[in-house]
Amino acid sequence: MSHCQQCGACCAQFRVDFSIYELDEHGGSVPSGLAVPVNGNTCRMRGTDHVPIRCAALTGRLGEQVGCGIYEWRPNPCREFTEGSDACNRARARHGLAPIARTKGWSLRSTLAGRCDRGERGPGLRHIPSGAVGATGPRKTQCSPYNQG
Ligand code: SF4
Ligand code: SF4
Repeated sequence: MSHCQQCGACCAQFRVDFSIYELDEHGGSVPSGLAVPVNGNTCRMRGTDHVPIRCAALTGRLGEQVGCGIYEWRPNPCREFTEGSDACNRARARHGLAPIARTKGWSLRSTLAGRCDRGERGPGLRHIPSGAVGATGPRKTQCSPYNQG
């Protein structure tokens, strides 16, 4: 059982930066209107670009019941974030939530996604792995303490 659907702390804790090539306007899946430019190659989820951080795609009440409004189209940092990781528990602590154990097989917001029963990818969508052309760099720079707001 994932904690993510009753959490959402990481979506309100970290800047979420990713390659512009993940945007739908460049052939990716993330709705362009939900991102703001960082530089020529990188953009950021809207709402994670200022403090207090709260991703514009996050729905619901943090710590109670949450969801990702673009689950099928979310960017790679969200797909790669691990429930129960150190970063997860730091985010939870900052929002007054108890630490949890690492949950093998779950990745962040993949479980936020649990509320969406449609699976990881929708028809016609493609997942651009980190390291692909235009990717912003090592995964840890995308959603990590270095990007913490
Ligand atoms: S990955 Fe961790 S911080 Fe993010 S929603 Fe899940 S339990 Fe909360
Ligand atoms: S999982 Fe969804 S709500 Fe959370 S940061 Fe990513 S896009 Fe935003």
